[in-house]
Amino acid sequence: MKQSQIFSKTIRDNPKDEESVNAKLLVRAGYVEKVMAGVYNFLPLGLRVFKKIENILRKEMNLLEGEEILLSALQPKENWLATGRWESYDTLFKFLSHYSKTEYVLGPTHEEIISPLAKKNIVSYRDLPRYLFQIQTKFRDEKRAKAGLLRGREFTMKDLYSFHSDEADLDEYYEKVQKAYEHIFEKAGIGDLTYLTFAFGGSFSKYSHEFQTLTPAGEDTIYICDTCKIAVNHEIIGEQDSCPKCGNKKLRKETAVEVGNIFKLKTKFSEPFGLKFKDENDQERNVLMGCYGIGLNRLMGTIVEIHHDENGIIWPESVAPFKAHLILIENSEGEIKKSADEIYNNLLADNIEVLYDDRDLSAGEKFADADLIGIPWRVVVSEKTLREGKLELKSRKKETGELISYDNFAKAIN
Ligand code: ATP
Ligand code: MG
Repeated sequence: MKQSQIFSKTIRDNPKDEESVNAKLLVRAGYVEKVMAGVYNFLPLGLRVFKKIENILRKEMNLLEGEEILLSALQPKENWLATGRWESYDTLFKFLSHYSKTEYVLGPTHEEIISPLAKKNIVSYRDLPRYLFQIQTKFRDEKRAKAGLLRGREFTMKDLYSFHSDEADLDEYYEKVQKAYEHIFEKAGIGDLTYLTFAFGGSFSKYSHEFQTLTPAGEDTIYICDTCKIAVNHEIIGEQDSCPKCGNKKLRKETAVEVGNIFKLKTKFSEPFGLKFKDENDQERNVLMGCYGIGLNRLMGTIVEIHHDENGIIWPESVAPFKAHLILIENSEGEIKKSADEIYNNLLADNIEVLYDDRDLSAGEKFADADLIGIPWRVVVSEKTLREGKLELKSRKKETGELISYDNFAKAIN
């Protein structure tokens, strides 16, 4: 993609209405645009990152044998009355239709929709287990939405729901999802800082688990056991002050953000909706459920909170909008562009995702934008590099680059 043609522009100064690092950088670099507190538009660059994250998630969901669906964002009040969450769900967006005077919910999550849907398709033990997931927009009336992409009032979630005939089957799948989540956060470049965290399990299970990533931008406090490399959250520490795995009492207090969570719902939602199945002996039993969520926006924001410096974002390659940022430094005679165009076409032909800064700007301005945007590899074509018959390659993580031939460069970044 040519930078001269890209819709979004970079902004030099930090936006005054943003407090968080992730929003400041993502807005300035032209990834997202703020519509109002907690609501963002995704611009071309931002959507590329978003889709990379989406693909990482979808791949893991497919490995977990999840079937992809897309559930309604607009939801009937009755379903929320049925579970009692019309009253108890504290960030529920409720609104009134002016025509029918009927009240609706803008879905913050989908247990109230998927449970009655499952009831129509799950009849006998032969229909179990089932794994359904979606990547879909959620709405939550968050009181404070000041953390940029970390806490939106509108955001995209990957939510997976599993349906089982017995606890052993639910437990086994839950473990598999836990492993898949570890892969996801590893691939997204936040594995080192992400802790499996024991959380309150509700009335049906002792624990649920959160995946908490260490960052000062987070709004949660967790307590890490360095022996087990796990953590417990504030709800657990309220009841017991030791590691649930090894009993260690020396826990380290840290600030973190919840990037995902997994929960054994068991019969919490199957009961109110009468989601039952007939077992081998023709006995009716409640279906057991699990739910597993990851916020895509929050994950994207967390990656930025962790991977940046004072000049801008430093994307992990797995989610970067492009692999290479080709930068043309033109001379006064205008001789360099032809070579840079050629290199751009070669990169495209070699299937290397490239953003080509072909704009009529100074080297300083281009380098500043490149640092802000944070593409992993910067490739400079200038009078100097051409004289040597080479390119200048620099990793966004490093201070200095090296002169390299095109062939070696393609190898180096692959
Ligand atoms: P929090 O305690 O941070 O509000 P939550 O417990 O309400 O999170 P869940 O209902 O479990 O979150 O949602 C599943 C996942 O969706 C979370 O792990 C997180 O990744 C994401 N998520 C939740 N709320 C938001 C939000 N307001 N903006 C962006 N992502 C969110
Ligand atoms: Mg919440």
